[in-house]
Amino acid sequence: MRFGNLAGRFVLRTDEGAVDVAAATNGLLPADPAEAYVRWDDVTAWAAALDPATLGPVVTKDIGLDALGPPSPRPRQVFALALNYADHAGESGLAAPAAPSVFTKFPTSVAGPFGTVALPGATVDWEVELVVVIGRPARHVAAADAWAHVAGVTVGQDLSDRVVQFADATPQFSLAKSFPGFSPLGPWLVTPDELGDPDDLELGCAVNGETVQAARTTEMVFRVPAIVAHLSRVLPLLPGDLVFTGTPAGVGALRTPPRFLAPGDVLTSWVTGVGEMRHVCTAPHETTSRDAHGGR
Ligand code: ZN
Repeated sequence: MRFGNLAGRFVLRTDEGAVDVAAATNGLLPADPAEAYVRWDDVTAWAAALDPATLGPVVTKDIGLDALGPPSPRPRQVFALALNYADHAGESGLAAPAAPSVFTKFPTSVAGPFGTVALPGATVDWEVELVVVIGRPARHVAAADAWAHVAGVTVGQDLSDRVVQFADATPQFSLAKSFPGFSPLGPWLVTPDELGDPDDLELGCAVNGETVQAARTTEMVFRVPAIVAHLSRVLPLLPGDLVFTGTPAGVGALRTPPRFLAPGDVLTSWVTGVGEMRHVCTAPHETTSRDAHGGR
């Protein structure tokens, strides 16, 4: 199954289009995507039993990409992993971690899968990542049971201002990766059963059409089951929570010479079988000017 956020409403993606879940169930299931994860067993049971022939007017056939929001718009917790691909740890000059290295991305940085990203400075870097969205609450979950607590996966970017990140000897992961728009996700949430092997997915990103990262999630140091088990030993994972599972090699800061995102750059990010996002970078003043002139 594929679910999404169309203009703020929770939808099921079918071959026919986007089915408005609240409208199709006469309000029995939530319209708000953030609330849908709290009812995840009900949502998936309804979707599994759905007869598309009965839907009619609740289906949007032409889905405007700009109307797609983040599949989980208001997560209570957003986790992210540092150095979770051995080749990225290697390009960073660091050993792969012995235990998951976890930081937070603050939830106000969450954004949709299409649109602009205002660059706060000249050292903003890309980090394509597989993002896990929690469905069933998870606490003290064994790795073997972890996928049963995952609503689905989506594509994410862990955009990072490297000057803010490395301003001092202690890196500031959380702040550097939490500017507005720095946690885009989407376009769809794909349930694990849709993916042949959810632990073996291809992901990558491109700047202006040039592929800069390409990897498989089998290269993760800690895969999704181990990450969910590890986090849930410490604290409860809640419906709608996000886990950014780490980025592979190919970030801009570690290139020779370093390369960063510039206004006008187009960043495309994908996970094969899940979807692709597209963002256009802008200078901060362009966004300010647009806001001041009513969105032109
Ligand atoms: Zn990252």
